[in-house]
Amino acid sequence: KKPQISLERLNYELCQAASVNEQMQKMVESFQLSENDRTARELLVQLLQEVFTEFLPDCQIVPFGSSVNTFGVQSCDLDLILDLEHTKAFQARGKKFEQTEENQSEDTRSEDSILSDVDLATATPAEILELVAAILRKCVPGVHKVQSLSTARLPLVKFNYRELNLEGDITINNRLAVRNTRFLQLCSGLDCRVRPLVYTVRFWAKQKQLAGNPFGGGPLLNNYALTLMVIFYLQNVNPPVLPSVEQLRNMACEEEQCVIDGWDCTFPSQPFTVPPSKNTDDLCTLLFGFFTFYSKFDFPGSVVSLREGRTLPITDFLSRDEEMPDTPQGSEPKQRNTAHPRLGPVNILDPFELHHNVAGNLSERTHRNLHRECCQAEKYCRSLQYRNKSSKGKSWGLVRLFTPRVEGCPRSQDGKEKSLEISIPFRASILPESLRRELGSAGDTFRVLWFSKLCTAVGAVFKDILKCTPPEEPTISQAQTKTGEDEEVNNNESVKQVITHPGVKRPLPAEESPSSSSSPQGKRQRLDPSAEHPEKACWSWAQRHQVWAGRRKVRRDLLKKSDEASKPEGGCSSIESRVTQCIIEKEVDPKDLLEFRVDAVVVGGGESTKAVLKFTPNNDLQGHFQDFFHFLESFLPKMVETLLAKQE
Ligand code: ATP
Ligand code: MG
Repeated sequence: KKPQISLERLNYELCQAASVNEQMQKMVESFQLSENDRTARELLVQLLQEVFTEFLPDCQIVPFGSSVNTFGVQSCDLDLILDLEHTKAFQARGKKFEQTEENQSEDTRSEDSILSDVDLATATPAEILELVAAILRKCVPGVHKVQSLSTARLPLVKFNYRELNLEGDITINNRLAVRNTRFLQLCSGLDCRVRPLVYTVRFWAKQKQLAGNPFGGGPLLNNYALTLMVIFYLQNVNPPVLPSVEQLRNMACEEEQCVIDGWDCTFPSQPFTVPPSKNTDDLCTLLFGFFTFYSKFDFPGSVVSLREGRTLPITDFLSRDEEMPDTPQGSEPKQRNTAHPRLGPVNILDPFELHHNVAGNLSERTHRNLHRECCQAEKYCRSLQYRNKSSKGKSWGLVRLFTPRVEGCPRSQDGKEKSLEISIPFRASILPESLRRELGSAGDTFRVLWFSKLCTAVGAVFKDILKCTPPEEPTISQAQTKTGEDEEVNNNESVKQVITHPGVKRPLPAEESPSSSSSPQGKRQRLDPSAEHPEKACWSWAQRHQVWAGRRKVRRDLLKKSDEASKPEGGCSSIESRVTQCIIEKEVDPKDLLEFRVDAVVVGGGESTKAVLKFTPNNDLQGHFQDFFHFLESFLPKMVETLLAKQE
């Protein structure tokens, strides 16, 4: 089995691509099921078919979902249905036979052990599931962790298949799911841009914790709903890439008519019978368009109808009691009108089962997150970093789009990532006694002076000791190997102050950059009006090395060496800066590890005055932010104190 690609490897490969179009194609190549994967799944289906036929004659095991819908990834589960319609008929025939003949044939007696226990025509779903679970547990080699979930919307049995390290689901008679899988297959065959878009959007949504495995994050979109969102968008671009389900229905021929549980599931079986799209947009543009479309989308006020290929006002669903709103008048067969979709903050109607909202499980919070992430993605797609490959080897295109949300990072009420904070208490003693007397050590001017010194120290810890660089600047190692001019850039400027609007960062244009100081004075040059405030400061930094990893050992080794030679000069801060340098030198392949923002503010008064430093990740591709922050929690206050003491 091909191991799943690591995020690091994926990022590397994506950065090598020449364009976003190529990156999106790479997404398919990197994640799709390999030939071997597909064969292995087919063999498992065959094995299950053989075993189940032993006990449930004429039953059929049919795969659906991502294993066969052309959007599967290497780790995806194996969704199966157990179709018992023919078995029911078989059982009914057997019963009839039993009544007429005293002696049963050998043929039916072998199945008796199970089929005589349960009457499929009257059994409850839970009873049938128990039967399936029992067969799986006892009779299929390699199957373990069998669990039946009879209270789910669609009752199912879950299992694990050890040899392929595969999770499987079996639902009973779920023919609609098999049919909607065929529909996804058809969409995929109608236009070659569908697959790269779906793979990209699925991965993006997973990284942003909008879909896939919920990390305790509450009800999320599932991949089916997400795929329908992509298809709906493609029905709505101009000109459309995909036709509506209703249009597809009208293109189908007599033999392709299909009705399941009263729902019209008719569409052509072959893509070539559908006229090709006139849309010529490339993938890069379509992806941007996807985010634009959904960032402006009024989810709570509308219902997504793939059947009609347009949105329907939610009011239609609130007021009608009798008819299904998205059933075109006079369409055959008559759709059910007994139930309504469960309405919520996001309403996406299933293309066939028209009373089912596939996103009915979404919470208000997930909706907010979805909206926010679409807006952020849309904003990012407008930048040059999205469209143009970086000439400096920096991350670009999809890589930045895929920046994961920080796991475990607490979120505030409005769903924004809540910053992590470090407090540093006010200490009057850092300023000279004479000044303290003159200004009054609890007075405002004194506070401002203290904060100014503190900010200088904080800046120095990041720049000089931890060797952080301003984002978008050459790395230290790059600068050192380049011209003196580059070195100048690196040396003369500690903190490139940035203008910060909520959620956006933008380096200042060169002429506006503070030229020599990391202290709050530099803030004067910021355009952000709130930055005029003397009790606030803000920096953005990039850290390209894991300077927190293995520090203790490096420090020990360094101290040992310097003991042997001479006492280290410059005390503790100088040692710490050398420790960082040692770590950096050992790292062969520095890359964009982490970008973060620090906002400092003075709070409280008198004795309890303190500076609060808020840390927010801007770019945390490999999820190092938490580790870095934990390190800073103890390191930063200590170092700041040392530096301030030196100034005393
Ligand atoms: P993956 O397994 O990689 O998450 P998938 O496409 O298999 O992706 P699942 O959530 O496993 O998605 O769903 C499998 C199938 O079950 C879908 O293809 C669809 O046929 C059906 N299905 C899933 N969720 C719904 C839903 N909310 N409404 C209707 N059918 C659904
Ligand atoms: Mg699945």
